[in-house]
Amino acid sequence: MSDGTPVPDCLFCKIIAREIPAEVVRETETTLAFRDIHPQAPTHVLVVPKAHHPNAAALAVAAPDQAAAILAEAGEVAAQEKIAESGYRLIFNTGAGAGQTVFHAHVHVLGGDGSLHGTL
Ligand code: 5GP
Repeated sequence: MSDGTPVPDCLFCKIIAREIPAEVVRETETTLAFRDIHPQAPTHVLVVPKAHHPNAAALAVAAPDQAAAILAEAGEVAAQEKIAESGYRLIFNTGAGAGQTVFHAHVHVLGGDGSLHGTL
């Protein structure tokens, strides 16, 4: 089980430590929300736990309160970005085969575009 310890070469741990700049939109004691550098929608924000866990499922096992916290923060981001009413998507890429490229748990908050309707 992951223990949440920061990982020196983790991109999101570096953003959390302010070693790499990011456009932060919200912060709590345990979470950080910042804009994706390559937005896939008019609003594209990543919400991460400050503790390092390799993906959202591992986070939920090791620290269920923080898994709940990133979901709650995703909702707060949607409200702040004014996409809550029109609807938004939450995506957790889990594993390289599914497109995960940063192995620090995160949820993508995507919205602001009617074309976002998915097939699932
Ligand atoms: P994944 O593909 O792992 O689910 O999502 C990782 C996300 O991190 C990608 O959407 C990618 O665009 C974003 N990303 C990669 N490098 C940076 C960076 O340096 N800053 C920010 N803000 N986002 C990044």
